[in-house]
Amino acid sequence: MLIVERIVVGPLMSNSYLVFDPVLKEGILIDAGDESEKILKNIERNNVEVKAIYATHGHFDHILAVGDLKEYLGCKFYIHKDDLEILGNAVTNYKEIVGGECPEPPKPDDYVEDGDKIIIGSSKIEVLHTPGHTAGSVSYVLDGSVFTGDTLFAGAIGRYDLPGGSLELLLKSLNEKILILPENYSVYPGHGPSTTIGVEKFHNPFIGVRGLYRRDK
Ligand SMILES: [Zn+2]
Ligand SMILES: [Zn+2]
Repeated sequence: MLIVERIVVGPLMSNSYLVFDPVLKEGILIDAGDESEKILKNIERNNVEVKAIYATHGHFDHILAVGDLKEYLGCKFYIHKDDLEILGNAVTNYKEIVGGECPEPPKPDDYVEDGDKIIIGSSKIEVLHTPGHTAGSVSYVLDGSVFTGDTLFAGAIGRYDLPGGSLELLLKSLNEKILILPENYSVYPGHGPSTTIGVEKFHNPFIGVRGLYRRDK
C-alpha cells in the first residue's frame, strides 16, 4: 500500500504529490510546481528516496520546481511528449499569468505514454493519456487512486480553452478513461482537495447534470 502526501505549492496553489512505499522508503513525485524547499522538507521528513518526477502536464504551475529537485535528488523527469511545446512556454506563460521571472523549464529525461507502468516498491502505477486540458495531459492510476492533474477536480473539470485544449477530447478522456474507474477510487487533482470517482460521477455539476458522462454506457 503506497502512502500519498499532498504538498500545496506556488501562487496557483498547485498540488505536488509524494507517493511512496512506506516499507522500502522509495517513491516518486507527481508534479512539482513550485517551492522546491517545501517539497524537499516533506521528502526528508518521510525519509524517502525519490526515484523520479512525473508531470501530469506541462503547465508551469506543475513543473517549475522540477529543475531544483532534479539537481538535489539526482532523479529523472518524465512528461508526455505532446506537452513539450507548452513546457517550453513556461517562462512566457508565468510572466503573463503570475508576473515576474521564473526558472527555465526542465528538460525531460524521457517520455510517458498511455499504458506505461511505473514500479514503486511492490506497487505499480499505470499511465493514462487523458488529453483535453492540454494535448499531453496524463493521469496516473495506482491501486485505489488516480492522479488527474488539471483534467478533473473536486466539483469541476479542467479548462479546455488554453493552447492545446479541446472540450471534445477532455470529455472523451473523462468518459472513456477516468470515470470508468471504480467508484471507490480516490481522485487526487492538480489543484484543491481530493475526492472519489463515485462522488464526481454523481455530484460534479459538469458531469452529472450536464450529462457529460453517459451512465448508460
Ligand atoms: Zn494546467
Ligand atoms: Zn494547474
